Amino acid sequence: MQKIKDSKIIIIGGGGIGCGIAYSLCQEGETDVLLLEKNDALAAETTSQGAGLVGQLRNNFHRAALAKWSVRIFSELEKSAIKKPGWMQVGSIRVALTEEQANKFEKLKSIAKDAEINVDWITNQEAKKKWPLFDFSSAKGVLWCDSDGYLSPPKLTESYASEAMMLGAKFETGILVEEIISSNGKITGVKTNKGTICCDILINAAGAHAWHISKMAGLDLPIFPVRHEYFISIEMENIHPLLPTMRIPEASLYLRASNNSLLLGGWEPDSVYTDPKNFKNGEKPPVIKDDLNVMKWFKDQLKIIYPKNKIIQNKKVYKGWPTFVPDGRFIVGPTKKLQGYIMAGGCNAHGISGSAGIGKHVVDSIFSKEKSEYLDSLSPDRFLSIDNSNREQEIKESQKIYENYYN
Ligand SMILES: Cc1cc2nc3c(=O)[nH]c(=O)nc-3n(C[C@H](O)[C@H](O)[C@H](O)COP(=O)(O)OP(=O)(O)OC[C@H]3O[C@@H](n4cnc5c(N)ncnc54)[C@H](O)[C@@H]3O)c2cc1C
Repeated sequence: MQKIKDSKIIIIGGGGIGCGIAYSLCQEGETDVLLLEKNDALAAETTSQGAGLVGQLRNNFHRAALAKWSVRIFSELEKSAIKKPGWMQVGSIRVALTEEQANKFEKLKSIAKDAEINVDWITNQEAKKKWPLFDFSSAKGVLWCDSDGYLSPPKLTESYASEAMMLGAKFETGILVEEIISSNGKITGVKTNKGTICCDILINAAGAHAWHISKMAGLDLPIFPVRHEYFISIEMENIHPLLPTMRIPEASLYLRASNNSLLLGGWEPDSVYTDPKNFKNGEKPPVIKDDLNVMKWFKDQLKIIYPKNKIIQNKKVYKGWPTFVPDGRFIVGPTKKLQGYIMAGGCNAHGISGSAGIGKHVVDSIFSKEKSEYLDSLSPDRFLSIDNSNREQEIKESQKIYENYYN
């Protein structure tokens, strides 16, 4: 095999986030980019399982703006890219079952307004018109965001990759990064199963292996894979792809149409994590068996708007190990500990919807002279400066983020 050419920038990981970063770099004119993926195909791990919901209602202005940027890119790709991400801008419904939750929605609405994202209250009858299958009579408030939607995570990844390749980025699959090489506190390259490749900048977008890659760089970051699942039902009447996405925070549920079936997922109260120390770089994280009790719990939770919930039959369960971190925020950008090393991890199960926004922030973190306070706040150094960090505590906090996802 020919030696792989050295590149200015190497990205480790060909999931939605790594490919989104390659695309964003190329869009900014930085095309000396090489993406390395250990599997023989892109989008082969967490990204292959994503539900693809894209929501912009977030609990601070900058996070909402990041999501809005992603939506802008998804729309552009759907319009102009040769390979489309399957972006369906069908809008989203968010249902409050108590006054307290409706008050929280009011805050989300005001943040969205500041970020110039159109969000309105709709009546229960209007919600019923948008999703006729469900009964919204017990809702204490329903928010509507017309620019939200859903897409296919593997198609999005392909779309990013093909656009980036057309602009000059190189993608190599079947390449396992085994070691990080640095000299005088600065990244100089990586050792792989197919030889050494030099670079000036190394981006860690390794998903459930982001901890392992960081460890190779001498950084111990609290990135914990937490199991997440949803199911797609057999075909049901009155379900079609143009229905909006939906979130019911108090029931810990999200849903959307998947063709003529229901896609139903959520955040169960007893989450399951795996310590990345228990699997090696190059190995897949533990195999997940379909947890049918959790699927039943999702259906039980849906009863409040769908009393006929018992008729829903699963066709297929999707599952994976998205990573969670103790403060529930992305880990993006450089570290003071190793020049040229950039993080793009800790997806907290919104890495697909965040991917284009993360790509933009990674680009800014490398090239922008004035870094925003928000970008600084996502730095890996926020964890590396903690003395005597308590791993058990960090795992508990990361699980809590999962279990209280909508809060
Ligand atoms: C069931 C489920 C539902 C979800 N639903 C949504 C949703 O609706 N909306 C949303 O935004 N997000 C959702 N997510 C989360 C989303 O899927 C993830 O945030 C996203 O896929 C993470 O992308 P990634 O590129 O970081 O990771 P991955 O897709 O896991 O990619 C990382 C890649 O790095 C590669 N790699 C690792 N180590 C090495 C190495 N040493 N050398 C070379 N390559 C390496 C891996 O092989 C892998 O392909 C969901 C996740 C799950 C599991």
